[in-house]
Amino acid sequence: MAESRANRPAGSVELIAVSKTKPVEDIELAIAAGQLKFGENYAQEAVNKATSINSGPVEWHFIGPIQSNKTRQLAEHMHWIHTIDRPKIALRLNEQRPRSMGPLNICIQVNISEEPSKAGLSPEDLSTFLPLFDDLPNLKLRGFMAIPAPSDDPDKQRQPFRALHTLFNTAKLKYPQLDTLSMGMSADLEMAVAEGATMVRVGTDIFGPR
Ligand SMILES: *Cc1c(COP(=O)(O)O)cnc(C)c1O
Repeated sequence: MAESRANRPAGSVELIAVSKTKPVEDIELAIAAGQLKFGENYAQEAVNKATSINSGPVEWHFIGPIQSNKTRQLAEHMHWIHTIDRPKIALRLNEQRPRSMGPLNICIQVNISEEPSKAGLSPEDLSTFLPLFDDLPNLKLRGFMAIPAPSDDPDKQRQPFRALHTLFNTAKLKYPQLDTLSMGMSADLEMAVAEGATMVRVGTDIFGPR
């Protein structure tokens, strides 16, 4: 629906169902309804769920902050990590990714609203951060992710999404393989889709309040 309102083709935006804090039974119901991509915020919870569900086509996306002592578990159980903003974490994931699983898909988290003390790489640091991935064969850089500061004004809310899309287009000139803009949650997904999101991460609107 958000796709058609934004004049975007049906199926051009992937839905990541954010199941953090929700029980495995809720995820199994969603799988039965055809949803196969899930997002989790807490490493231990993510790994427990990935281990206990572990059915073939289910894809696990890690969207929370990453402590360096959790990278091995994430490298061994996740399909995607959306929240890379430090070289140290990228190096560890590259090192610890089991070769048999193929490269781990990566989005760089960008602090697009430039909020002090918020997670994410500052936009001006992208040009020095991106080349790091040239030498990390077990990571596959896919694109950017952001959680903009919330705004009640829809026009204002669109600005950071537009800014992230511009950074993405610039990065694509040098890294044409980039194909993912992970932006938009329950409250702001319409604006994110209108500004070019390719993945939205939706929790509340699917599983109810937490
Ligand atoms: C919790 C969370 C979401 C989902 O938020 P809702 O408002 O419940 O849709 C999306 N992205 C991240 C990074 C989150 O932590």
